[in-house]
Amino acid sequence: MRPQAFVRVAVDRPLDQLFDYACPDRGQPAVGQRVRLTFGRSAQTGVVLEIDQPPAIDPARIRALDGILDPGPILPHALLELLRFAARYYHHPIGEVVLNALPPALRTGGPLPGPRPPELLWRLQPGAAPSRLGPRQQAVVAGLRDAGTALPLDTLNDLTGLGLRRGELERLAARGLLESVEAATESPPAGHPAVTLTPEQDQAIAAINADAGQRTVFLLDGVTGSGKTEVYLEAAAHALAHDRQVLILVPEIALTPQLVQRVSRRFPGQVAALHSGLPAGERLRVWENARLGQRGLLLGTRSALFTPLPRLGLIVVDEEHDPAYKQQDGLRYHARDLAIMRGHIESVPVVLGSATPTLETLVKAREGRYRHLRLGTRPDGSQPPPIRCLDTRVHRPDEGLCSPLLDAMRETLGQERQCFILLNRRGFARVLACDHCGWVADCPHCDARLTVHAAVRRSVCHLCGFSERLSEACPQCGQELSHQGLGTQRLERALSRHFPGIPMVRLDRDSTRRRGELEQCLETIRAMDAGIVVGTQMLAKGHDFPRVGLVGVIDVDQGLFSVDLRAAEQTLQLVLQAAGRAGRGGDPGAVLVQTGHPDHPLMQGLRTGDYPAMVEPLLNERRAGGMPPFGFLALIRVDGPSPEASARQAEAIAQQLRRHTRDVRVLGPAPAPRHRVNRRYREQILLASASRSPLHQALADAREHWQRNPPPRHLRVSIDVDPMTLS
Ligand code: ADP
Ligand code: ZN
Ligand code: ZN
Repeated sequence: MRPQAFVRVAVDRPLDQLFDYACPDRGQPAVGQRVRLTFGRSAQTGVVLEIDQPPAIDPARIRALDGILDPGPILPHALLELLRFAARYYHHPIGEVVLNALPPALRTGGPLPGPRPPELLWRLQPGAAPSRLGPRQQAVVAGLRDAGTALPLDTLNDLTGLGLRRGELERLAARGLLESVEAATESPPAGHPAVTLTPEQDQAIAAINADAGQRTVFLLDGVTGSGKTEVYLEAAAHALAHDRQVLILVPEIALTPQLVQRVSRRFPGQVAALHSGLPAGERLRVWENARLGQRGLLLGTRSALFTPLPRLGLIVVDEEHDPAYKQQDGLRYHARDLAIMRGHIESVPVVLGSATPTLETLVKAREGRYRHLRLGTRPDGSQPPPIRCLDTRVHRPDEGLCSPLLDAMRETLGQERQCFILLNRRGFARVLACDHCGWVADCPHCDARLTVHAAVRRSVCHLCGFSERLSEACPQCGQELSHQGLGTQRLERALSRHFPGIPMVRLDRDSTRRRGELEQCLETIRAMDAGIVVGTQMLAKGHDFPRVGLVGVIDVDQGLFSVDLRAAEQTLQLVLQAAGRAGRGGDPGAVLVQTGHPDHPLMQGLRTGDYPAMVEPLLNERRAGGMPPFGFLALIRVDGPSPEASARQAEAIAQQLRRHTRDVRVLGPAPAPRHRVNRRYREQILLASASRSPLHQALADAREHWQRNPPPRHLRVSIDVDPMTLS
């Protein structure tokens, strides 16, 4: 009898182990290859992670694989190493991590896409005179005209957001409007910067290119509009010219169509975009092309990080401060951090770009662990606008708006320019605060603010769990306290009363949910002269609008004084990013921030516009409190169908942790700031430590404990390492 060969397989199960299977008679799969197997009673897809290991259980009890799925490995070693790291670091089951790294169509055992017919590129028929076109067709024509070059269907969809199918283009071709050419016959024009680079840009590019093949991490630090993107594109061109692939991560693709356009235009036919909005089949195609090395530049949101890229030469993380890089469920990874790890594993430089780097990144750059590249000025010589505070204790806001802001808006509109009104509406816990006098509720037992739990009408301390009935009136000035905060829709209504007849666009999740709505909004903004745009943080993303004369910021205090760990940092970043929207094309414009705390050090810092200076108080606070980046945190979350059940389980976990951990502070359990979500009640335990290893030890022990003594099925326990928010 020939010796049985065994493999260890990752299976999509919430368990911390690999499973032994025997190879079928025909063939032994390799590491990184998908297999079919029976797990318990169900048919599953697995990925082989180890071969030639003596099985962990009695060989007689080992089942055989049901089959081998791919002709060879589809996940390369380097990527598997990254996934194993992610499973360890985020304390997440290895099988879930590995299977989730695959495009959905492959997770369930679907086939790899077969060889693909030569790709077609589409362009406008020279001299075609478009007439009697529908809105979709007009958008196609406009997209191709803007691009100025032939484009593959997926790029055209990225540019227009239309979700076109090939048949539609073929019909337009039949009408003599478009023509198609085979990609292979059209050699992509070499990328050239459209501009003359500044000496700072040249230096940055030279530094990145010089470290090709090394594990250097760069912080590319420059105000919005200072030309960072131009630097990424040049460094990418260098890598592509050396036959290497480039991965560019962006926080959200839909929000930055201009970036996709810019990259696609610069490297026609070489760019693939990958994000969760793509239909499954298209996503699989893009993934497969990248895996086979057919597209040189992959532009994607956080999950694109897990795409196999055999010739990877450069990773860029654009807007590295953006919280969208953190996955908030399942494997709660931070794509920037894993990008750095991937660069390390694959010996590839990683460029982190931001005008407002996170404190983590800033500190590492200061310590010399990252190379700090600076772009000090904008190439066009323009200056970011000055930031001024409007004291809401003096100018009482009515429906969120105070009169000097309204006056400034009137003036800006009179100059035929646009006003952007930003409502800071991140999912931070709301502190109980008075909009009129600036009073903020503190916990009687802790150095912490009380947060509003509107559903149960209580204010709660998220550290010790203290709670009391929500007060209706401010104890300091007697005015009514608002518990809900203002929404964008209410703000929009108030603004249209003040400015009847003025064009207005609202930009938030609700107004841009359906396909094409976002593009429509952005288009309207670009097309209008004077007008008002009201919205959430979506306003602050990298859009380049030439006519913004005024940025008004509402409700900044909630962000600056929130109990949430990163709320103040992210609020400063948000205001500066929003400020970066003003003052393009000449006049610097102005930024007005409404606050009840104009003398607070953070507000004073904000007024200077100098980001490294304004985060200094935050850094001091974090250092003193042993908070990141000077200490390490993890959250254990428990959620269940009743407040009691969640609290009991959380208490048991906390007690077990307290008995066994050293060098780790265990805080709580306390109700999560958003206690009730989807009729489930959430409790959390915060772990803090001065160094990583005791924290990870504590998490590993806790997990082992609850895997041996599993909580009842209706309770869910999850771990969030390096949490971005405590909500
Ligand atoms: P960032 O990514 O830092 O916001 P961009 O690279 O988008 O900056 O540049 C902002 C604007 O300035 C863009 O319109 C870009 O084309 C232009 N730009 C960038 N570099 C230069 C340069 N060296 N000379 C002239 N214009 C430039
Ligand atoms: Zn008050
Ligand atoms: Zn407390």
